[in-house]
Amino acid sequence: KGALGVGLAGSAFFTLARDELPDKVYFFKELLSKAKPQAEDEKKRIVVLGSGWGALSFLQRLDQSKFDVVVVSPRSFFFYTPLLAGVATGSVNFSSITESMRWHLGKLSNPPSFLQAHATDVDFDRQTVSCVTIGDDSSGSSNVTTSIKYDHLVVAVGAEPSTFGIKGVVEHSHMMKEIEDSLTVQKKLLSTLEYANALAASNAPASSVERALHWVVVGGGPTGVELTAELCDFKNSDIARYFPHLASKLKITLVEGTPKVLGAFSPHISKYAAGALEGAGADVMTGQFVTGVTERTITLKAAKGGGKSELDYGVMVWAGGIAARPITKKLAEAIGGEQLSGLGRGRIRGLKVDEKFRVLGVRNVWALGDCALSGCAPTAQAAYQQGMYLGRLFRDTGLKSGVEIEGAAGFKFRNYGSLAYVGSSKGVADLKIHLWGDRAPAGRGQEAESTVIEGTAAFGIWRSLYFSKMLSLRNRFQVGADWTIGSLFGREISTPW
Ligand code: FAD
Repeated sequence: KGALGVGLAGSAFFTLARDELPDKVYFFKELLSKAKPQAEDEKKRIVVLGSGWGALSFLQRLDQSKFDVVVVSPRSFFFYTPLLAGVATGSVNFSSITESMRWHLGKLSNPPSFLQAHATDVDFDRQTVSCVTIGDDSSGSSNVTTSIKYDHLVVAVGAEPSTFGIKGVVEHSHMMKEIEDSLTVQKKLLSTLEYANALAASNAPASSVERALHWVVVGGGPTGVELTAELCDFKNSDIARYFPHLASKLKITLVEGTPKVLGAFSPHISKYAAGALEGAGADVMTGQFVTGVTERTITLKAAKGGGKSELDYGVMVWAGGIAARPITKKLAEAIGGEQLSGLGRGRIRGLKVDEKFRVLGVRNVWALGDCALSGCAPTAQAAYQQGMYLGRLFRDTGLKSGVEIEGAAGFKFRNYGSLAYVGSSKGVADLKIHLWGDRAPAGRGQEAESTVIEGTAAFGIWRSLYFSKMLSLRNRFQVGADWTIGSLFGREISTPW
C-alpha cells in the first residue's frame, strides 16, 4: 500500500509539474515525463554530453531501442573539423561542413532527445547533470537552468584552445577551433584587405599597409599548417586577381616553437611541408615561441639562445594547441583522488579513463575523445573510433550487468595515418595500411605498413579521403560543389557585413 501511495503521489507530482510548465519549456515537460520513478524493466537513461566526433559515432552505434537517450550540447550541429581552414579562407562554405544534430538523431531508430545547453556540473551521488540552456524567446528571457537525471553519463565535450596563459593572445588573436572562429577569421581577412586597399588609396605610410597585410598563424601542427596553406592559395589566386596591387605586399608567416612543423609526422615529411609552404609564398619561422601579443605586435623568443624579436601584424590566428574545458576540469576536481594524482591544480588535461572509457574514481560515468586521457592523440580519427567502441559496448551488453562489461575486450586504437594539405595543390600523407585487418595470422600482430606520399598525389588522397569521410551525402555534394565552383570561378569575396 505504501509503495502504491508513494507511486501515486510521485506520478501526481510529475504530472502536475509537467502540466504547469509553460509551453516555451516544452522540452523539460518531455524530460520530466520521462523522469518517472524507474521500474526494474524500464530503460536506462543515458545522457550524452557533446555533439562532436566522439558523441555522434557513439550515438550511431548505440541500439536506441534499448535505452532512453538524451543528448546535451551547446552546439546544435555536428561539423567536419578537417575542412575548417577552408571555411576561413572561403574555399568551402560553412554550411557545407555542418549538419544539424536533429537531422543526425532523426535518422536513428527511436531518436534521442536533444537539448541545446552547456552542462555546467554533475552531482555524482544523485546522478544528475546541471545544464544551462541556450535559446531565446520574444520576452527576452534566454537561459534556463535545469538538471537531468542519468543512469549512465557519457562525457564527450572535446577540448578548447590553449593559450598557455600568454599575455594578449586571448584579446588580440583569433582561434581556429569552432565554426564561428573560421567565420570570424574570414570576415577579418576580407575586411583587412578592404582596409589596406583604403590605406593604399589614401597614400597612408607604406608601413601601415605592410602591417595590415602581415597575416601570422601561430602553431605548426596540422591545423596551423593547413590554414597557412589555404591562406597562400587565397593570396595566389583570388587576392592576386581582385587586389593585384596588394598581393605582392601581403606576407604570410607561420610561427612554430619547436624546431619543425608537423612535429607528429616523420622528419622527412616535416621538411617537405616547410619547403612546400615556403614555395607557396609563406615564411616559416620555427624554434620561435610567442611570449606576448599586443594590438599590433607579437613578441617572439628564440628557443635556442633566447634572443627576442618582434613582428608587426594585421591578422593573427592562434592554432597553438588544446586544453581541457572548464567542465572537464570541474568534473576531475569533483572526483578528486586518482583524477588529480601526479598533477598540479591547474594541470588537469582531461578525465583519466580505463581501456573501456570508464572515468576513474566514479561510477556510471564514461568519457571519450579529446576530453579523455586515453593514450590516443586528440584527433577526430581517435574520437570516432572510441565512440564506435563505446556505442557497441553499450549495445552488446545492454549495460545490464557489470560482469559482461568486465568480460568485454578493451579498446584498441587503429591508426590509419595522418594527412595534411601544404598548399599549391600539394599534400603530405603518412598512411598506415593494415594488411591483415582483424584477421592477422599468429605472429603477424596488428602492425601496419607505413606508406609516405608527398606532392600532388598526396593532395589527391587528402581530398578524396576527407571527402569520403564526411558524414552526410548533403555535405559531400556541397563540398564537391564548393571545390568545383572555387576552381572555375574563384572564391566568394563579398563582405555583406
Ligand atoms: P569535439 O568534436 O570538439 O566535440 C565536442 C562537443 O562537446 C561539441 O559539440 C561541443 O559543443 C560540446 N561541448 C562543449 N562544452 C560542452 C558542455 N559544457 N556541455 C555539453 N557539451 C559541450 N582530427 C583528425 O583526425 N583529422 C583532421 O584532419 C583534423 N583536423 C582538425 C582541424 C581543426 C581546425 C581542428 C580544430 C581539429 C582537427 N582535428 C582533426 C581534431 C578533431 O577535430 C578533434 O580531435 C575531434 O573533434 C575531437 O572530437 P570530440 O568528440 O572529442 O570533441
